[in-house]
Amino acid sequence: MPEYDDQNIFARILRGEIPNDTVTETEHTLVFRDIRPQAPVHLLVIPKGPYVSLDDFAANASDAELVDFMRTVAKVSRDEGVSIDAGAGFRAVANTGEHGVQEVPHFHMHILGGRVLGRMLPE
Ligand code: AMP
Repeated sequence: MPEYDDQNIFARILRGEIPNDTVTETEHTLVFRDIRPQAPVHLLVIPKGPYVSLDDFAANASDAELVDFMRTVAKVSRDEGVSIDAGAGFRAVANTGEHGVQEVPHFHMHILGGRVLGRMLPE
């Protein structure tokens, strides 16, 4: 696993060095709006801990962090009106590493919704 770079932009957001459009926050998780939205709803869900990627978070986060993260995904999907219960739906994406074209090396899950999104990848 690459070493965590504490100068990455999401680390700086977590330290309050860069402003962000926060949607909600818990003990272990922050949700804010993507600065370049690709759908009417485009959220970024990030753990507050220093995890590089989804595989790092999944392997090394505590149970409390893992549960908090996933429960927060459920809460914001409901609050933003994109949940299954709202009759909508969304896409959760975690670009990971070089092949996944991950730009920011702090684990984040994109929550995209608010319209029908089309197929996941071009054929
Ligand atoms: P990824 O390519 O999965 O690493 O996605 C990184 C995402 O972070 C992109 O969708 C960017 O638009 C978003 N992003 C970068 N800087 C900021 C920022 N300061 N505030 C909110 N979103 C950002």
